[in-house]
Amino acid sequence: MSGSDRALRVPLIVGLATLVAVLAWLGVRDPEDRVWGNLGGTVVLSAAAFACLRVSRQAAALPPVRGFWVLWSFSAAALVPSTIAAMVRGATGVPGMPVYEAVPTLISLTLAMLAFRHVPLVSRTRLDWARLMLDGLAVTAAGAVFFGYVVLNTVPETTAVATQIAAAVVGVGCLLALVVFGKAAVSPEGRVDPVALAVLANAPLVGLIAVVLFLGGTEMGMLLLSVLGYPLVGMAMCVAAHRQSRVLDVQPPRRPRWSIADPLQFVAVTGTAVLVIVVSARDLDMRGRAVIGGAVLIAAVMVVRQLLTLRENTLALRAIRRQQAELERLALTDNLTGLPNRTGFTIALTERLDHGRPATVLLIDIDDFKMVNDTLGPAAADQLLRQVAERLQQSADGDRECVARFGGDEFAVLLPSGDPAGIESAAARFQHTVGRPVQTGEQQFLLHASVGVVIAEPGETADEVLRNADIAMYAAKESGKASWTRFEPRMRQDMVKHARLAGELHDALRGGELRLLYQPVYDLVTGRMHGCEALVRWQHPERGFVSPGDFIPVAERSGLIVPLGAWVLREACTQLARWQERLGDQAVEAVNVNVAVRQLREAGFVDEVAAVLSETGLTPRNLILEVTESSVVDGPRVAEALQDLHEMGVRLALDDFGTGQSSLSLLRAFPVDVLKLDKSFVDGIADGADRGRLAVAAAVAQLVEHLDLKAVAEGIETLAQLERLRDMGYRYGQGYLMAKPLPADECGDRMAAAPLVLGAAHR
Ligand code: C2E
Ligand code: MG
Ligand code: MG
Repeated sequence: MSGSDRALRVPLIVGLATLVAVLAWLGVRDPEDRVWGNLGGTVVLSAAAFACLRVSRQAAALPPVRGFWVLWSFSAAALVPSTIAAMVRGATGVPGMPVYEAVPTLISLTLAMLAFRHVPLVSRTRLDWARLMLDGLAVTAAGAVFFGYVVLNTVPETTAVATQIAAAVVGVGCLLALVVFGKAAVSPEGRVDPVALAVLANAPLVGLIAVVLFLGGTEMGMLLLSVLGYPLVGMAMCVAAHRQSRVLDVQPPRRPRWSIADPLQFVAVTGTAVLVIVVSARDLDMRGRAVIGGAVLIAAVMVVRQLLTLRENTLALRAIRRQQAELERLALTDNLTGLPNRTGFTIALTERLDHGRPATVLLIDIDDFKMVNDTLGPAAADQLLRQVAERLQQSADGDRECVARFGGDEFAVLLPSGDPAGIESAAARFQHTVGRPVQTGEQQFLLHASVGVVIAEPGETADEVLRNADIAMYAAKESGKASWTRFEPRMRQDMVKHARLAGELHDALRGGELRLLYQPVYDLVTGRMHGCEALVRWQHPERGFVSPGDFIPVAERSGLIVPLGAWVLREACTQLARWQERLGDQAVEAVNVNVAVRQLREAGFVDEVAAVLSETGLTPRNLILEVTESSVVDGPRVAEALQDLHEMGVRLALDDFGTGQSSLSLLRAFPVDVLKLDKSFVDGIADGADRGRLAVAAAVAQLVEHLDLKAVAEGIETLAQLERLRDMGYRYGQGYLMAKPLPADECGDRMAAAPLVLGAAHR
C-alpha cells in the first residue's frame, strides 16, 4: 500500500474543526443569529472540493478513477453556492428551501451522478442500463407521490409554492441519486475504494432528511439541519477522498458494501401501496375500495412472487460462485501437498512485479530424487515429497514467503525482498531444511537439494524470472549438487551457447566430423600394452578441435549422447576386430568404451551391446565399459542394465574412482571388474604433498587386491608417479608418460612394438 497523501489530511482536519466550531456556535449563538452557522458548510465543502481534486491528480490513479474524483470535486464546488444561499435564507427568514438554493444543489447532484458513470470501470450491458433506469423510475415515481401527497400536505401555508416545488424536486433528486450511486457502488469490479464508495453512495440520505424536515419541520430543526447538513455532506467527501488516497495501489476486487439503494425499490413499492390504501380509504366508496384493495393485493402477491424468484436466483448464483471459487482454488493448488502450484505461484509473482516490488525466487530441486522414486515406488516417494513440502512451509516466514510446488521434486519460494544478504541466509535455511533426514516407513533418507536463486530485475516478467531461476538451478546442479547458485546473465549466454553446440554436434554426428583416438593402458610391470581406451574427438570445420570435456556434457544434457555413444561403441568394436585381424595375438584383449548414464537408462542398451558384439565378431571379454560412480547409483533400471551386462560377460570399469561420494560401498553392490583411480590422486603422489589422497590411493590398491579386481591408475605423467604407484601395488596405468590418445593405426603399431622400459623395476 502506498503511503497516503499527507495533503489530504488537511481537509479532514479543517472539516472536523469546522464541525466542532459549528456545534459550539449552536451552543452560544444569539437566538436571532441564523446566518453565521451556515458558513461551516461553505468551508467544509470548499475543503471537500480541494480534497477530491487532489486525489484525482494522484499519479497512480487510473484515468476513469481520476474522472470520477474530478466530477466529485465539481459536485462539491457546485454545492458551495447552496451554502451561501442558506445564509441568505437565514438572513431573510424564508422557510423551506428557496429556488436559488435548490438549483445549485440539483446541479451538484447531477454532477455526482455523472461521476458514477465511471464506476464500475467495465462497461455496463444494455440490460444493466435498462434495469438501472427502471429502478430509478420506480423510486422517482414513488418519491414524487410521497412528496406530492404527504410532505406538501403538511407544509406550513406560508411557504411559497415555488419553494415547495424546489424542495420536493431536490428530495426526489436525492432519492434518485441514492439509487444511481447505490447501484454503481455495489458493483464489485470498480477500482474506486469500496469504503469511499459506500460513504459517498449514502451521502444523499443527509439531503433527503434535510428536505423532509425543511418542508415540515420546526424552525430549530431546520436551522440544525441547515448548519449541519452541508458540512456533513462535505465531510463525507473529505473522508472518501482521504480513504481513496490510501488505496491507490490497485486492490483485488472486493465484495460490494451494503447500500441504501438495495431495499429502496421495495420501500418505494410498499410505500406507494400503503399510500394508495390510505387515500382510497378516505376518498372512495366500498366498491372502489374493493377494486383498489384487490389491485394492491395482486400487486403485493406479484412483488412477493418476484422476491421469491429473486431469492432463488441469489441462492443459485451463490452456489455457482462457490463452485467457481473452488475450481479456481483447485486450479491454483498442487493436490499432493496443498501448496500453491506453478500457476498460483506465477500469479503471486506477477502481482509483485507489476507493482514494482522487490521479489526473489528460489527454485529448489531435490537431487537424485529419481533414484528415491525408483527405489521406494511412487507412493512412498509422494509421502517424502509431502514431508519436504511441510518442512519448507514451516521454515518459511509466515505469510511473507510463499512456498509452492511446481511438480515432481521441484519447489519454489517467493521472497519479498531483493537484499542479497537476506537471500543468502534464506537459501541456506531452505537447503538445510531439506537436508535433515526424512523417514518413510522403516527407512530413513538423507535428501539434499540444489537451489537456483534469482533476484527479479525491474521490468522483468514472471516468465523471465522463472526461466532464469531454472537456469540458475541447473547451474547449481552442475556445480556439484547440494548447493545454491545465484543467477547471472552469463548463464543464459552459456545456455544459448550449449544449445548451439548441441545443434552443431547433431550435424557433426551425421557429417562424420567425429573420430576416435585410442589411449593405451600399460602393464606397469612388464611394460606391455594391456588394453586401450577409446576417446572421442570432434574436429569442427570452423572451431577446430573441440574438447570432449566441452561437448560430452552438452551431449548428455541434450540426449545426443545416446546416438553418439552408440556410434562410439560400434566404431571401437569394429576397430578392435580390425586389430585382431591385422595383429592376431598381439592385439589387445579388450577395448575400453566410456558409457554415459543416459545410455544406460535406455531400455534397449544391453541388447544393443550384444548386437554390436555379434556384428563385429567380438566376444563379451573383448569389451570393457567405463561408467562413473554417479551413474551406478542412478536407480534400479541402470543397476539392472549393469547386472545384465556383467552376466553377459562384458566387464565393467568404475571410471574416475575416488571422486564420487559413495565409492567403497559401491564395490559390493555393483559387479565391478576394474577400478580406474582418478588422475587427481595420481597428480600429487610422487611428492607426497597431499597425505589424504596418498592414503586413499594406497587403500584402493590394497582393496583391489583383496577383492580380486584390477586397478588402473589414470593420468600418469611422470616416471616418479609411475614408480610410486607401482610400489603401492598398481599393476596397470594410463597416461601421457606412456602414450597420449593415438590414432587407430598408431595404437595398433604400439601393440606390435617391443615393451616399454618403465623405470627402475624394469632395470
Ligand atoms: P576419462 O574417461 O576419464 O578419460 C580420461 C581422460 O584423461 C581423457 O581426456 C584423456 O585424454 C585424459 N588423459 C589421459 N592421460 C592423461 C595424462 O597423463 N594427463 C592428462 N592431463 N590427461 C590425461 P579426454 O579424451 O579429454 O576425455 C575427457 C572425458 O570425456 C573422459 O574422461 C570421458 O569421461 C569423456 N569421454 C571421452 N570420450 C567419450 C566417449 O566416447 N563417450 C563418453 N560417454 N564419454 C567420453
Ligand atoms: Mg574413461
Ligand atoms: Mg577417468
